[in-house]
Amino acid sequence: MTSGIVFDIREFTLHDGPGIRTTVFLKGCPLRCSWCHNPEGQSRAPQTIRAPGRERLAGKEYAADELAALLGRQAGILKTNEGGVTFSGGEPLLQPEFLAEVIDRLEGIHILLDTSGYASEEDWRRVVGRANLVFFDLKLIDREAHRRYTGGDNDLILRNLRTMNAMAVPFVVRVPLVPGVTDTDENLAAIAETVCGLAGLQGVDLLPYNKAAGAKYRAAGMEFKPDYDEEREVRVNLAPFERCRVAARVA
Ligand code: SF4
Repeated sequence: MTSGIVFDIREFTLHDGPGIRTTVFLKGCPLRCSWCHNPEGQSRAPQTIRAPGRERLAGKEYAADELAALLGRQAGILKTNEGGVTFSGGEPLLQPEFLAEVIDRLEGIHILLDTSGYASEEDWRRVVGRANLVFFDLKLIDREAHRRYTGGDNDLILRNLRTMNAMAVPFVVRVPLVPGVTDTDENLAAIAETVCGLAGLQGVDLLPYNKAAGAKYRAAGMEFKPDYDEEREVRVNLAPFERCRVAARVA
């Protein structure tokens, strides 16, 4: 029996996949994206989150059967509303054994994996093979820019994208639009070129920039240091996706 660290569980979510869902946020991420809006998901260690008038501990250990039992109790309402369970983070693939064990105990429930794609091939195959749908974050195609803004290489991510496609697991590519970083015409054209023609691709979601990150860092006792101009208007360019007939939208 494995155990894992979770920093939040949200019930009745409407934007984390089809239908009504419960979203589980697993703690810990190997990347450090400059724009990360879940800073309390980065470290595996528990953290105190302070908001005016309240304080909470982000980071609770669950045994796999304990978390599965908690989620399983909601199975009826999730199925009735054509929803399921979404595993997000942090990076859920950082706890592959725990995640696989929890999913195996949720038979019959729709499983969505929200991931950066940064994982070893072995872990990737093990967990993605258990998902019904994957939200795959694709940030930057240029290797150097990816390393600079996320702290990690994108080789693994791009390989895992191809592996997932070969495994015939349906996926949605999600692109966070960060002003002057990911929203450039060059990057969006490169992303379109990368995903164009992939059989498992269900669509591309462009995610508008979230300016609330700063407050979340302060609440977690962390410093927010974006190395781009947060005030610059974000560019929304769907044309590269339309050109290769990929269904793209601003989510
Ligand atoms: S991959 Fe996601 S959770 Fe990890 S640092 Fe980047 S934005 Fe944050």
